[in-house]
Amino acid sequence: MSPEGAGAIGTSGYLLTGPLTFERRELELPPLRPDWVRVRFIYCGICGSDLSQFEGRREASYPLSLGHEFVAEVVAVGADVTELQPGDAVTSDLNFRCRDCDQCRAGRSHLCRMGQIGEFSNRAFCDLGDLHASYLLPLREGPLPRFALVEPLSCVLHAKNWASPDPTERILVIGGGGLGICLAFALCQQGASFDIAEQSPSRASQIESAVSPLGRLVPQPKEDEYDVVFDLSGSESGLKAGCRLVKPGGRLCSMSHLDGHSDASFLLAALTRRDVSFTVSYLNGEWSNLETAVSLLEDGWSATWEGLLRIVSVDDLQREFETRRAAPWCKTVIDLKREPSQESR
Ligand SMILES: [Zn+2]
Ligand SMILES: [Zn+2]
Repeated sequence: MSPEGAGAIGTSGYLLTGPLTFERRELELPPLRPDWVRVRFIYCGICGSDLSQFEGRREASYPLSLGHEFVAEVVAVGADVTELQPGDAVTSDLNFRCRDCDQCRAGRSHLCRMGQIGEFSNRAFCDLGDLHASYLLPLREGPLPRFALVEPLSCVLHAKNWASPDPTERILVIGGGGLGICLAFALCQQGASFDIAEQSPSRASQIESAVSPLGRLVPQPKEDEYDVVFDLSGSESGLKAGCRLVKPGGRLCSMSHLDGHSDASFLLAALTRRDVSFTVSYLNGEWSNLETAVSLLEDGWSATWEGLLRIVSVDDLQREFETRRAAPWCKTVIDLKREPSQESR
């Protein structure tokens, strides 16, 4: 194994080489730039966007490095980095923020005109990657699997900020996948009551024990009942249900990006004459949402929530992606710590 350091270094990782195909490839990182940090990836969540890429629903140029919901350990820092050192656990904001364009200046830097998901070297289904120091958040409690939720949790916090439900309002969460459990967790931490709908009986029973007593599993939510509905189903049927279940005058927030599933042409007809405020919430908004996500996961996490995560070895990545849509658990986190015997060639 080559020694880790700030110089050019060989590494390896799983790249998407075409739709439905991961391959383990040898890779090279150039010498570390002065304000960058080299990390070893420890855990990484599978996001719905990774899944769309895997399924070939989004435009892509291959090979593609996926995995942005990661927890990592610093192995080397560039000459100008003072706030981090080797051994520190970190997670990262995935969004490039130029701090100079109209969007950045207006406080919407998650929509930066220069934003590009490929700014950093390898992403997290690899052993090592280089990241700009200013995008890293330290994790005081170490590189634990739960911190793979920082990014999706920051995204649902952005959605929740838009809806800003008050304590008298009825809230419904549609979908108990990765985003659904993050929002349920955030609402529980806030002490808010809510209903949650999930069609998979196995996911529903796992969620029920985590969200109770503030959250309530509802197999058949009633129409026109809810002031605020979050559609986190990732599906056309979930978004359609959201349109029906939100009450006239209410707020409907969808985070379902229906890449290739649907053109959502039903939407206008479903919301017409209902005076519903509708948004498609995207990414994580203000940087402060990331910091809030870290502190919620530091202070409010418990074994019951941990039970909603399924930890899978990176060497089962291909199979995990193939079966993820129908998986009976809520969120998959990939364990990237490969045994030495498994190191490639
Ligand atoms: Zn994500
Ligand atoms: Zn910008």
